[in-house]
Amino acid sequence: PSEKAGMRLVILGAGESGVGAAILAQKQGFEVFVSDFGEIKQVYQDELNHYQISFESGKHTEELILNATEVVKSPGIADKVSIVKKLKEKNIPIISEIEFAGRYSDAKMICITGSNGKSTTTMLTYHILQNAGLNVGLAGNIGKSFARQVAQENFDYYVLEISSFMLDDMYGFKADLAVLLNITPDHLDRYDYKMANYVKSKFRIVQNQTSADHFIYCDDDPEIKNYMAKADIKSQKHPFSIEHELKNGAYLKANNLMINLSNSDQFEMTIQDLALQGKHNTYNSMASGILAKTLEIRNESIRESMGNYKNIDHRLEFVANISGITFINDSKATNVNSVWYALESLNTDVILIMGGVDKGNDYTMLKELVRQKVKAIICLGKDNKAIHDAFEDDVEVMVNTFSANEAVQIAYHMAKKGSTVLLSPACASFDLFKNYEDRGNQFKAAVKEL
Ligand code: ADP
Repeated sequence: PSEKAGMRLVILGAGESGVGAAILAQKQGFEVFVSDFGEIKQVYQDELNHYQISFESGKHTEELILNATEVVKSPGIADKVSIVKKLKEKNIPIISEIEFAGRYSDAKMICITGSNGKSTTTMLTYHILQNAGLNVGLAGNIGKSFARQVAQENFDYYVLEISSFMLDDMYGFKADLAVLLNITPDHLDRYDYKMANYVKSKFRIVQNQTSADHFIYCDDDPEIKNYMAKADIKSQKHPFSIEHELKNGAYLKANNLMINLSNSDQFEMTIQDLALQGKHNTYNSMASGILAKTLEIRNESIRESMGNYKNIDHRLEFVANISGITFINDSKATNVNSVWYALESLNTDVILIMGGVDKGNDYTMLKELVRQKVKAIICLGKDNKAIHDAFEDDVEVMVNTFSANEAVQIAYHMAKKGSTVLLSPACASFDLFKNYEDRGNQFKAAVKEL
């Protein structure tokens, strides 16, 4: 480790990824300093103390940061933050935790990105690989940080959920297998409100790939298709589509999910047997299925895993049926496209609870489905003027509420037998809640009270 002596690694943000990076860096022999502008959770403070890693909270002390050799930045910290600007002025390299930890692992990297469906596809893939007996870790935006696991575990494979914010600070990292699920507007506030910048960021998932690597992507997505028409992507391409047949990739044939890859036998599974239902989830299953086939997992094993997978909470999660009214928690729908898929998947009248912190949303794509299915919109959030403006001509009732309980009570009284009360916010949650899990949990608790 002594070769790293004198290399000062500064870590901005002491959440799970920052603390994981600190532990790995310490182990690798760097001089490490952690700085968080907010509070640091007690468990993380205890951990940093345990490893004798120096840290500060509530401030960014420039003298202790601007002398870094390299900086690992939490994906939550935007480039416009003053300390980040100063680091850039001084040309100090800023990288993500994934970039950093990737340098110290020889495992095969399976990386999943997209505007929606990342967690679902990541978890499903992990489930398939684990059931097939592979020695596989799960990281990225989920659970224990990648860096922490690289420091403490020894996996042959990692399934990594990768956000665009992470990709923005990745340079040398290579995904052996990369998945791009879809690209629809999200987080544009961090991309100068330019869709092209966001698309470019998502395509960093294939950077550094060679002809030995694999790129799995949705062939029905116009943003992806447009970009690929002019991009020079070196890896082996495996598209998936619901709209048309494909020679090399996944597609639907009647009610069957088919996968044809040049080097293996054909895979076939009835979509009714998939654990994940709904059109969006068929895409997710296709992506996971191609990954599994590329890794030469047997068809029988893939079918079994795709049939018995239990989805994670807060994604179109059934909560209860009370007096004939179904309550669904889709709190993780934090952008407009995921709300579209939620509405599309329902064949009933809907009382839609939405709102929160708007990320510069354009609600136009929802208007038609709202006119068809939504009887009332109950806004849940401090300021939902944008939602009012977007839908006031389409639905009769628009109500403002400021707690999950209030929203659920009102929805329950409005809903008729046979209809669905859907929490699918299209917005971030932090005006009223800690995070989307908190929002979903409060919604579920309020439903259970009825
Ligand atoms: P992410 O990790 O990308 O946010 P999740 O799997 O957590 O994605 O799902 C987020 C939301 O998007 C949920 O409301 C879910 O129902 C919806 N969703 C899941 N997969 C897709 C998809 N392929 N296309 C559109 N929406 C999706």
